[in-house]
Amino acid sequence: MKAALPLLSLAILAACHTAPPPVPQPESVAMEPDTPVSQAPVPSAGEQWLLGSAEARIIMVQTWNDIAAYVEATAANRPNASVILAPGATPAAPEFLACGDKPLAAVFDADETLIWNTGSTGAFRRMDLEYTPEIWADWERTGAGKAVAIPGVLDALQRIRAADVEIIVNTNREAVNVKGNIATLRMAGIGDFVHGSTLFLKGDTPGGSAKDGRRLAISENYCVVALAGDQLGDIADIFNEKSLRPADRKQLSASPAFDAMWGKGWFLLPNPLYGPSIDGTMDEIFPPETFWEPGTKD
Ligand SMILES: [Mg+2]
Repeated sequence: MKAALPLLSLAILAACHTAPPPVPQPESVAMEPDTPVSQAPVPSAGEQWLLGSAEARIIMVQTWNDIAAYVEATAANRPNASVILAPGATPAAPEFLACGDKPLAAVFDADETLIWNTGSTGAFRRMDLEYTPEIWADWERTGAGKAVAIPGVLDALQRIRAADVEIIVNTNREAVNVKGNIATLRMAGIGDFVHGSTLFLKGDTPGGSAKDGRRLAISENYCVVALAGDQLGDIADIFNEKSLRPADRKQLSASPAFDAMWGKGWFLLPNPLYGPSIDGTMDEIFPPETFWEPGTKD
């Protein structure tokens, strides 16, 4: 019979395994204020939400399902009027282009509408840089394969095409980078687009990043039944009047003629990363009448 290890020895062994002797600690650690602190890049809150969260994925899938359902229903009951505002239209005198017997189309923005620019967004974050035009141009030329289809898009496009509605992309990517931009859309699975026919880029019509000119050009050949984007400029340039403060844009978007369009031909997707929606002073975002502070002073 083997002799049992004395209980006291076992207790000592266990203590040795679970409680190493304490390491002496200095009483205080001297800070070196001049030493530069190198910090690993961290995604912004907006990037975490948009590109990483289940919540954003769900909103995208919901919205693209809504877009596809709306287009299917509209194609089955052909409208007389397009959803493109006529030149000079105002909230008080809203007028939409007539459709005639033109074939139906749905017009979508590209960036943060059909595709997420995950590659360039990550690069800017790693370099700790804000938007830089030269780097963005390089992204347009060489980013194919590193931009991804937004959740819900591919299924929605399939349904829209099955309803015999042409998909047209109206983007502020540059016409000079047409080759890379077509490749980016193709590699993300969005489709094969033809410049000037199903793809309209910045520089195709006068007006720079304003898209009304391109919407009118598209309307020469198509009855547009749906517009979707992540910026109000993807719907109509009237929303991008420079003097409009955030509250003015909200009010304009809520004017009865325009308010009737949201979800019924005009569709917006969330983009907390950039664009005219990211604006507002403390007083504009937190109106004085809502001022509050915790009553912990006494
Ligand atoms: Mg966009």
